[in-house]
Amino acid sequence: MPKLQLHTKIIIGLILGAVFGAIFSINPNKVELNFKDSSDIVENWQEFSYLKKDSVLKTFYQGDQLVILKYYKNLKDKKDVKIKVKLSDGSEKVFENVITVEKKKSIGVWFKFIGDIFVRLLNMIAVPLVLASLIVGAASLTDLKHVAKIGGKTLGFYALTAVVAITIGLVCVNIIQPGHIMDPAAKERLLDTYQDDAKAKIDQNVSMNIIEFLVNIVPKNPFKAIAEGDFLQIVFFAILTGIFLMQIPKERSAPVIGFFGGVSEAMIVLVEKIMIIAPYAVFTLIAATVAEFGFSILQTLFWYSLTVVLGLFILTFIEYPVLLKIFTKIKLKDFFRAQRQVLAVAFSTSSSAATLPVTMDVCEKRLGVPNKIASFVLPLGTTVNMDGTALYQAVAAVFIAQVFGFELTLAQQLTIVLTASLAAIGTAPVPGVGLLMLIVVLRSIGVPEEGIALIIGVDRFLDMCRTVPNVLADSLACVVIASSEGELGEIKPDAEYEGTM
Ligand code: ASP
Repeated sequence: MPKLQLHTKIIIGLILGAVFGAIFSINPNKVELNFKDSSDIVENWQEFSYLKKDSVLKTFYQGDQLVILKYYKNLKDKKDVKIKVKLSDGSEKVFENVITVEKKKSIGVWFKFIGDIFVRLLNMIAVPLVLASLIVGAASLTDLKHVAKIGGKTLGFYALTAVVAITIGLVCVNIIQPGHIMDPAAKERLLDTYQDDAKAKIDQNVSMNIIEFLVNIVPKNPFKAIAEGDFLQIVFFAILTGIFLMQIPKERSAPVIGFFGGVSEAMIVLVEKIMIIAPYAVFTLIAATVAEFGFSILQTLFWYSLTVVLGLFILTFIEYPVLLKIFTKIKLKDFFRAQRQVLAVAFSTSSSAATLPVTMDVCEKRLGVPNKIASFVLPLGTTVNMDGTALYQAVAAVFIAQVFGFELTLAQQLTIVLTASLAAIGTAPVPGVGLLMLIVVLRSIGVPEEGIALIIGVDRFLDMCRTVPNVLADSLACVVIASSEGELGEIKPDAEYEGTM
């Protein structure tokens, strides 16, 4: 039997994971009650009530699984709380001394720990890799003028793609108008179900004052930035260190650059080894996500999700190919072929940072980008360039405004272009932060922040989707800049990693 290549295995893992997760999906009409030494399953309830001292605190009905769990979780004083269920056959049961109320886990989520280890390994690499490769990258750009030239081109390209992405999002959401199609009952239900999650995000108090934002890019203590994984601060520190290593005598800078070069290379070799478990990890991650995903919520938010996915699709398959064609000679097919692994990892981990080590390897080995450009452009892009997130934030902001009945003026829509660009820059390259930074966009146009409760339920799925163009744009920028510098090497879209099966 011919040996399968790694990317084929990853795609198979992804598809099988989705099927496995769908087969063993978590039953939305089952609730597990855990007691001190035992547990019980409740299903087919007609009414599910929480009681305290025999007075009813709240009653829920069939299909309310999520609200039932959340209500219990948020109950301040759980002492003496009883649960009374009326089953569909008319019988009633009362449960006392319940410790936790949970979803009944299915085999679909049992193996997620393998995926979690994989994501943690990639994240473990991301911070040292960004630091080391940017120091080496900046130091190898011969002089300050060169750094400024490459840096300027990179940021200019990122700004261009972000503004186009947001515009695509705004056009889609204004044409489809998903917020106007939403049923008012569904709106109330979503606001009710997710209000606590929304509040938790709002309480994190994100703000985007431009001056404050710029000040915060400068780390007071780079080691703290590294420890906390603050990518913008790490990037700032690393670029400056790289630049000024060029300004000191060579005999002093060479060992430092050699050290960080070694760290960076070791990280890349490590990622090649980690990728060996990628097919299995991807399988478990996708299986767990599909098994846990409430498909009914996807139905409720169908038009909104469709608008985001359509926008991301246009971004990925129209904007990026056009830019690739304008700025490079790379064939579209080769570009996408080379990225297969990157796309699968981005989709299943929802993290640009976790995907960065794979992106770097692929850009250098398959797309012919020299190390000095890849190691500068990619870490920078992972941190500041998030077209998918910017597009999603624009669509989400207008969607929420539509649901709440706000008619946005042109000036407000232009404000979204600006704030979504900044919010995307401020979004950390890890899962779910795009939603948090959306609060900044909502504030800028005066739409209630609580509105994020409407879209939290589908955020995980849309996060997976938006992370794909986020990382793809970084690779695109990499080849565009290498090509503009006349430094693009041979394209080998099928080059395999050494050491892989
Ligand atoms: N998960 C995204 C990324 O890592 C960020 C976000 O939009 O939440 O690129």
